[in-house]
Amino acid sequence: MGWWQKIVIPFFGLVLAFWFYSAREDFKPEMLKGKRVIVTGASTGIGEEMAYHLARMGAHLVITARTEAKLQKVVERCRELGAASARYISGTMEDMAFADRVVKEAGTLLGGLDMLILNHVGASYFGYYNGDVEHVRKLLEINFLSYVAMTTSALPMLKESEGSIVVVSSMAGKVGFPFTVPYSATKFALDGFFSSLRQEFTMQNVNVSITLCILGFIDTERAVRVAGALLRSPPAPRSECALEIVRAGALRRRELYYRYGSTRLPLLLRDCAADLLDYLVRSRYR
Ligand code: NAP
Repeated sequence: MGWWQKIVIPFFGLVLAFWFYSAREDFKPEMLKGKRVIVTGASTGIGEEMAYHLARMGAHLVITARTEAKLQKVVERCRELGAASARYISGTMEDMAFADRVVKEAGTLLGGLDMLILNHVGASYFGYYNGDVEHVRKLLEINFLSYVAMTTSALPMLKESEGSIVVVSSMAGKVGFPFTVPYSATKFALDGFFSSLRQEFTMQNVNVSITLCILGFIDTERAVRVAGALLRSPPAPRSECALEIVRAGALRRRELYYRYGSTRLPLLLRDCAADLLDYLVRSRYR
């Protein structure tokens, strides 16, 4: 028997057995029925679409963002679509006291919490780093610190329900992207915080899942307006993206890559051909 028969065949047997026994659980919309969910940044874009998917699935919703008039409309639509309940709390995530208050008020309104979806993002510029340190600080507060503050407030409830945290990040949080230096820094910070926290949950037997969502270019109004003319590839649809995020959270996945081909596959080059990956990222721009 050749070496390949002794080693390669058993190896592939093991791989196949592992794949078979770790076969992925199917997603069913009923998984979200009656679940108590907070969605941040839900007045527009991907957050708004997530609220609609969750409403169709019969979840209890508390949504948040700054613009009250938009939140009112999203809540009305969620009720029409079949949400078990839908409410909003408006305010800015520049204020950590507000981040904490949203969780506490939502917990009281919902009688607990099953899923915390952190999705909001502060406005930033698209261009070469302009040296504005104050802007970086402010963006870190909105895109990172408020995520930490909300998670900290929500943890007692999430531990009780054995719930889930869903963190919406970006490919710019896994590899350096030009023209989005402050934004990219905030997204890298999310990976550091939540991946470390996941390790501690495992060590402490805390049954709260953390799903980090690595998104490519999505067709939200803001993203298309800011970057559409400069990016070569067309954006992916926000409704499909939102559904994938909700599914990944419900299935307690560690990470979601959307779309897989344009995010996960290039990132495989990170450790073995970082310069090539940087080149591929730059070549996405006109
Ligand atoms: P979006 O359309 O710009 O929506 C951002 C949301 O955040 C809005 O609801 C906005 O509402 C809220 N928001 C902004 N500033 C806020 C503040 N200071 N306090 C509280 N809420 C605030 O964004 P999106 O494109 O849907 O992106 C959603 C998530 O996906 C973000 O985390 C983003 O980084 C990630 N992502 C998006 C893309 C893309 O191409 N679209 C790609 C990769 C990752 P108000 O203005 O009413 O406050």
